[in-house]
Amino acid sequence: MSDPTATGPAVPPLDADVIVVGGGPVGATTALKLARGGMRVIVLEQREATGLEERATTFHPPTLEMLDDLGLAEPLIERGVRADSYQFRDAKLGKIVDLRFDILSGDTRFPFRLQCEQSVMTRMAIAALDEEPLAEYHPNSRVGTIRRIDGHVEVDVQSGPRRGTIRAAHLVGADGMRSTVREQLGIGFHGHTYPERFLVISTQVPLQEELPDIAYVNYIADPVDWHVLMRNPSGWRILFPAPPSWGSDEDVLAPDNVLRQFRRVLPDRDADAIDWVTLYEVHRKVADRLRDGSTYLVGDAAHVNNPMGGMGMNSGVHDGYLLAEILLRGHAGEEVDADLDRWAERRRAVALDFVGKETEGNWSALRDDDEQRRAAQRAAWEALGADDEARHEFLLTSSMLSSLRG
Ligand SMILES: Cc1cc2nc3c(=O)[nH]c(=O)nc-3n(C[C@H](O)[C@H](O)[C@H](O)COP(=O)(O)OP(=O)(O)OC[C@H]3O[C@@H](n4cnc5c(N)ncnc54)[C@H](O)[C@@H]3O)c2cc1C
Repeated sequence: MSDPTATGPAVPPLDADVIVVGGGPVGATTALKLARGGMRVIVLEQREATGLEERATTFHPPTLEMLDDLGLAEPLIERGVRADSYQFRDAKLGKIVDLRFDILSGDTRFPFRLQCEQSVMTRMAIAALDEEPLAEYHPNSRVGTIRRIDGHVEVDVQSGPRRGTIRAAHLVGADGMRSTVREQLGIGFHGHTYPERFLVISTQVPLQEELPDIAYVNYIADPVDWHVLMRNPSGWRILFPAPPSWGSDEDVLAPDNVLRQFRRVLPDRDADAIDWVTLYEVHRKVADRLRDGSTYLVGDAAHVNNPMGGMGMNSGVHDGYLLAEILLRGHAGEEVDADLDRWAERRRAVALDFVGKETEGNWSALRDDDEQRRAAQRAAWEALGADDEARHEFLLTSSMLSSLRG
């Protein structure tokens, strides 16, 4: 009912409690957590459908715990491949250590690494959103301008059925590395792009038969020939560094170069054994802040890192899930402003001091060209295999459990 004593133009009603820009893995899971908790959510995704491009394939234990709360862990585990250990290897010497996750069974319900394409999980989350009465998911809906007016947030949607202006109390920018939300808020994104690109070659050749002592996730150290071998539900993925000396992207992706690299791992195979090839730039960047009033940045919009350790998407899912928990408490009437500030500081610190350092450290260790340091690193990895306490501490970190403590 309108107030007869009120003056001035009527304030239009809000379309939702939260607008989530971006329906990638982070936006979709954040929106699902919010809607399941009782907030009205609109997700705006510029693409027609979730891309199948080969990006994240690793789900760490704490991410599986969060996905379990959303009912997604079990179906994802059914679709994925369970890695019960992972290895550090040397390109010439072979296996150095096989690190078994069972030592984490007192710390998590999911003491393993799940290998599955991120698009599988994103599609599951979007399908679950479609079932939620409090959620709307709109593909083909690109967000352009963002405004903050009278304590709420307005966005202009440039395409799709929700084209026009929509309003909500909160806005979550889950719109990836080139975030429009971050740019519209004028938030800096500082760091660097690595000189190497990453060449990813997928194959259905059963590598575990060709290299019988490997695990489902293997980091192979060498100053020049370092690479990563990872099992996915659809086959194996081989990741190589592509240094600037290999030339342009076209040069790197030229069929003869791709085959040459592939044969470093599988010398007797031909091009018909290659399923899929992609080349990525790799960055290490973090947003100057993750909160601006009732607008928040999560996932790649907030931070990007190299994929050595598989932490980018995982930490993004953690950002969004933890943010949603606080917003839901606020929705229930609690005062949460200070908690939102703490969330923003803590998640930024995790991106800088945990994910950034871990992934950088992993990469440096794999490609170190100093023979003394390489020998010391090999000895340190071997020691992990022989010392349960040290291996436990190490795996708490590499599986990201420790990033959520304290
Ligand atoms: C080779 C490679 C391997 C990787 N491996 C791993 C791994 O094993 N584990 C891991 O944790 N991470 C990994 N990552 C990182 C992971 O892929 C990303 O961290 C993850 O995709 C981030 O998810 P996101 O939802 O934040 O962003 P994105 O996946 O980029 O999704 C953002 C979405 O926002 C949409 N969007 C953008 N702008 C707008 C707009 N203006 N309006 C509406 N929609 C918009 C986009 O279309 C997109 O769908 C890897 C990355 C690469 C490149």
